[in-house]
Amino acid sequence: MSATTFDLTAADARHVWHPYTQHGLGDEPVPVRRAFGAYLYDANDRPILDAISSWWVTLHGHAQPEVAAAIAEQARTLEQVIFAGFTHEPASRLAAALVERVPAGLARVFYSDDGSTAVEVAVKMALQYWRNLGERRRLVVALENAYHGDTFGAMSVSARGLFTDPFSEKLFDVVRLPDPVDEDVVAAFDRVLADRGVDVAAIIVEPLVLGAGGMRMWSAERLRALRERAAAAGVLFIADEVMTGFGRTGPLFACEHARIAPDLMCVSKGITGGFLPFGATFATDAIFGAFLDRDRTKTLFHGHSYCANPIACAAALASLALLDDSSARRRAGIEASHRAAARQFAAMDGITNVRVLGTIIAMDLVAPERGYLSGVGRALASYALERGVLLRPLGDTVYIMPPFCTTADDLALAYGVITDFVKAQ
Ligand SMILES: *Cc1c(COP(=O)(O)O)cnc(C)c1O
Repeated sequence: MSATTFDLTAADARHVWHPYTQHGLGDEPVPVRRAFGAYLYDANDRPILDAISSWWVTLHGHAQPEVAAAIAEQARTLEQVIFAGFTHEPASRLAAALVERVPAGLARVFYSDDGSTAVEVAVKMALQYWRNLGERRRLVVALENAYHGDTFGAMSVSARGLFTDPFSEKLFDVVRLPDPVDEDVVAAFDRVLADRGVDVAAIIVEPLVLGAGGMRMWSAERLRALRERAAAAGVLFIADEVMTGFGRTGPLFACEHARIAPDLMCVSKGITGGFLPFGATFATDAIFGAFLDRDRTKTLFHGHSYCANPIACAAALASLALLDDSSARRRAGIEASHRAAARQFAAMDGITNVRVLGTIIAMDLVAPERGYLSGVGRALASYALERGVLLRPLGDTVYIMPPFCTTADDLALAYGVITDFVKAQ
């Protein structure tokens, strides 16, 4: 076994820089050797229930055989090819299959690498759309408590705060609307449109759930009203479904709750079933049309080395087939479990603001410190890990967002860990 000849922990500690990790706290990462279904297995083959889908990506389950097989087959056939001037069957099949399933009118797909790049592409498309049309619209409207990724454009449209502070003066200005959970975001958007509507290029939102901003769930009515106001003002509407896409909130896309179709839509995370990094930005034919010209300066000058990687496309096609199969029933089962658990959590001291949307349950812990740096989240994460459950609270907000194969018994384990932790406080 390699463990005898290779010290994973020592090499990691010496050479690896982990994401969202303060190495100075001295926390040791958990070595994971394999995973299957809803479980990770550590170096001693101890099972750990992955209650957060490994950062919201694992869709059906870990190591899902159908997706794994599609990846292996594609890797032996065509593993990668430049996507400018060339194309391949997995990319075009996937485009057609996705367009059939996304909200109406999103007829074009631009492939990229992850959620942040999918957002960068949407914002660039929106800004260049107006430039190509010869109009001056340059402002982007975004929501308070939004999270759209960690690259500079994505940070610019995300809420300013802890994550963005070191770079604040390098980010472009946006028009910020108030948090859509607590405040009348529609009236605020109306005021922006009345004052500077002709300068607004686009509005970007996370439909119905502000994810990294604290799993804050907002109403379909407000989402629908924002979309209608944007349409009336000629402002492009960008839906960032990077987290909510592919069934997390119940229907395939959160926009469906509000019966809206955006002009641009970003997806990533679950798109390959959680196997490979991949992103996609959807655009309407009207947006695509504004780039269509003999004039080469109207080109979308954007691309990534791995655009439309055939292996990722094959994984996404296999994942879509699973979504068409029994997935809706599984998602409904998870939601029913969550709703029953929510009634019990809501009755507990120490827990407030319990909320459920589709396969996501979230709640706030009553803690002396609020926000992302609240110590209660770290304490719960280590308490849960000792008991074989992976949770990663967003500060004082704890949530469960499981792979769709997760059973009622698995969920009971996760609910129980949260309950026991709160009771022990
Ligand atoms: C995670 C996330 C992103 C960024 O995706 P990455 O793949 O981490 O770059 C963007 N938008 C939303 C809504 C997200 O949840």
